[in-house]
Amino acid sequence: RLYNEVQDLKGNIRVYCRIRPFLPGQNGKQTTIEYIGENGELGVVNPSKQGKDSHRMFKFNKVFGPTATQAEVFLDTQPLIRSILDGYNVCIFAYGQTGSGKTYTMTGPDAARKEDWGVNYRALNDLFEISQNRKGSFSYEVGVQMVEIYNEQVRDLLSSDGSQKRLGIWTSAQPNGLAVPDASMHPVKSTTDVLDLMHLGLTNRAVSSTAMNQRSSRSHSVLTVHVRGTDLASGVALRGSLHLVDLAGSERVDRSEVTGERLKEAQHINKSLSALGDVIFALARKSPHVPYRNSKLTQVLQSSLGGQAKTLMFVQLNPDLSSYSETLSTLKFAERVS
Ligand code: ADP
Ligand code: MG
Repeated sequence: RLYNEVQDLKGNIRVYCRIRPFLPGQNGKQTTIEYIGENGELGVVNPSKQGKDSHRMFKFNKVFGPTATQAEVFLDTQPLIRSILDGYNVCIFAYGQTGSGKTYTMTGPDAARKEDWGVNYRALNDLFEISQNRKGSFSYEVGVQMVEIYNEQVRDLLSSDGSQKRLGIWTSAQPNGLAVPDASMHPVKSTTDVLDLMHLGLTNRAVSSTAMNQRSSRSHSVLTVHVRGTDLASGVALRGSLHLVDLAGSERVDRSEVTGERLKEAQHINKSLSALGDVIFALARKSPHVPYRNSKLTQVLQSSLGGQAKTLMFVQLNPDLSSYSETLSTLKFAERVS
C-alpha cells in the first residue's frame, strides 16, 4: 500500500508553484497573479502592459496560492518522505528570487510554532513517526549533515569548532552514499534532535551572513538526512536519503551596478542555478547525458537527482507587480523542467 502511493506520483520530477501573500503593510499593491487553476494552471498578467503579450499561462503539477497553509503544502510531499524509508533518495528544493518565500516553505517562520513548520521539520517528524510505526519489522538509524555552498565552496554548518574549512566532494562511487564525507555527521533519534541541529546550522549561517551582508540569500544551504534501515527478519539493509535545499536567490543582478565580491557571488549563483536547471532539464527529457559536473551544487545533490531518485521543486513567487520580470524569469526556469 505504501509503495503504491509512491508509484502514484507521476514521474520522478514534480514541480509545485507557491505564491506568497502580500506582506503586512503591502495592502493595495498590484498583483501579477491572474488565475490559479485546480490542476496546476497559473495565469500571470502584467497590468501595466496592453495586449495579449501581457498575459501568460503556465502549468505545474500543483499551484499553492497565497492562502495555502504549511500543512496543506506538505500534504502532497508526504508520500515522498515515506519512500525514503523504503530506500529511495529524495531531493526537495525551493527556487525563486530573494523574498519569494523559499525559507518560509522549507523551514518556516518560527520553529517554536508547530503549525508554522516548513517542509524540513515536517519531513523529519514524519520520518521518525513512520520509523517508529515500523519498529517491529525494521530498525532505522538516521544521521544528519548540513552544508552551505557559497562561491562554489562547500562549508560545514554543523562543525563543532565552527571551522570554515572547505570540504571536498566525492563525485564518483560513493560507497556510503556520502557526497561530502568530511562534513560532520550527527546521529539523531527524534525531531527535537534535528530541531536543535538545524538551529545550530541556521545560527552558523546567520553569523557569517551579518559579517558578509546577507550572505544567506547568496548561498545554498543543503540539509541531508541519511537513513539506514535493516529488515529485522532477513537482515537485509537499505539506504535512503533526503536532501532539503534552500537555494540562493535567483534574481539577476545588474552587471553595470555590481563589482568585486558581489559580482563574483552573482556569477557563482548564476552558474550553479543554471547547472541545476540543465541537470533537471536533462532528466526530464530522459537524456542519456546528465551534466552533474558543472557545479558544486549538482555534485552534492547527484545521488538524489536522476536514477530512481525523486525530485520535488518548489517554484516560489512574489505576487507584487514590481517583481514581474523576476517572476517571469522564475517561471521560465520552471517551464523548462516541467
Ligand atoms: P526567501 O527565503 O525566498 O528570501 P522568505 O521565506 O524569507 O523568502 O520570505 C520573505 C518574507 O515573506 C518573510 O517575511 C516571510 O515570512 C514572508 N512569507 C513568505 N512566504 C509566506 C507565506 N506563504 N505566508 C506568509 N508569509 C510568507
Ligand atoms: Mg531565505
